[in-house]
Amino acid sequence: MPKVYIKTYGCQMNERDSEQVARMFSEGGYTVTSHESEADAILINTCSVRDQAEQKALGKMGTMMHKGRDRKHVVYGFMGCMAQSRGEELFKAVPSLDVVVGTQKYHKVFEYVDGILQQRLEARMDDPTHSLRGGSVCDVAEEEGSQNTIRDHTHKSYQASAFVSIMQGCNMRCSFCIVPDTRGKERGRPISDIVGEVRHLAANGVKEVTLLGQIVNLYGRTEFPRIDGKSPFVQLLEAVHEVEGIERIRFTSPHPIGYRDDLITAFTYLPKLCSHIHFPMQSGSDRILREMRRPYKNEKFIEICEKMKAARDGLAITTDIIVGFPGETEEDFQASIDTVERLQFDNAFVFRYSKRRNTPAAEMDGQLTEAEKESRNQRLLEVVNRIAISKNAALVGSRQQVLCEGPSKTNAARLSGRTTQNRIVIFDGDADRLAGQLLDIQIEESGGFSLFGTACLA
Ligand code: SF4
Repeated sequence: MPKVYIKTYGCQMNERDSEQVARMFSEGGYTVTSHESEADAILINTCSVRDQAEQKALGKMGTMMHKGRDRKHVVYGFMGCMAQSRGEELFKAVPSLDVVVGTQKYHKVFEYVDGILQQRLEARMDDPTHSLRGGSVCDVAEEEGSQNTIRDHTHKSYQASAFVSIMQGCNMRCSFCIVPDTRGKERGRPISDIVGEVRHLAANGVKEVTLLGQIVNLYGRTEFPRIDGKSPFVQLLEAVHEVEGIERIRFTSPHPIGYRDDLITAFTYLPKLCSHIHFPMQSGSDRILREMRRPYKNEKFIEICEKMKAARDGLAITTDIIVGFPGETEEDFQASIDTVERLQFDNAFVFRYSKRRNTPAAEMDGQLTEAEKESRNQRLLEVVNRIAISKNAALVGSRQQVLCEGPSKTNAARLSGRTTQNRIVIFDGDADRLAGQLLDIQIEESGGFSLFGTACLA
């Protein structure tokens, strides 16, 4: 039985897309392996949002090819956003590459890879001296309906939660972002298809779903009507809420544009919505937001956060912030710090601005030096971390409901799970018995970013 190894870099959408590809290989008779050295097909799914992810992916591919140089039949491929944005050019950068497949063609990856592998295996039988290389595929074309192809899941042990891709693409044009080029226009899946997928997950024991979209709250705005003043996204939340067996619903990431009162109100009458939103702010300076082509002001962002906190007691808000955007002055940067202090985010991902080719920001004047970006990164992180650590510390002594996800990734002898606020909690117990269960955990200690406690079992 042939084996496939899939490495994913980047966001949850990429993870979800890789899962779909893995499922197709399983259905095609392959074993999905976590050991690249034994794989017959090696695929990297990587994002383009940050240069670092691209460099890592290229480096990893080079290393794997070098290590596997004696296994001449192995098929190597890139898929996802980097494949989409670089296309054919990747064959020049990585000469032994066989397959480059873009973001609207994940459903074709198996066919391409398996086709090449079968040819090579047959050629090897006919002529053992055959070089086996040659023949490559690059498919980065658009495909109507491709958003509907990310819908199947692989079986995992201890699966308590799952990602569900509800849409693809983004019609915004943030000046720093390459996503509209790599993922195409916004395209939503029908509510009935998404609900069918969620029902299937629930039937397999999944208790929590995270609805994924580049601009998730704008789901369906170009395809489906508002009904009774509710956006298609709120209609979808209501429909998913009805699914028996699903106890928790999350979504990521929303945009301030289109974050209207119907969505805020949904948190008052849909109790399965978790008490956490990840809500990218990007900058606290109106001037920089304008340069970023983010069509809202800082006060609007703050107003939405405050309304959300009023709608749901104890709501946790995390965010993304870019530091060192071209032209960012000390005053602009201070505005980001001030907003973090004012909103007291539960946590934040802080990114140093990095140029993405073919984006307007890459050509802007006033690019900051790496040292300046790094210094702002550190200064902002200090504020973010201080707040996050103190919020976690305040939970010591409380009892939290935690969805047990199984063995902890950092210490497999213990279990881990998440609170409704998306805080990680580590505790002891039997994974076979507790995974997938909602448990009350007495919080006894805070390790800064994780909590530690004891399960209150009957
Ligand atoms: S909203 Fe902006 S940052 Fe987010 S995916 Fe779209 S263009 Fe990129």
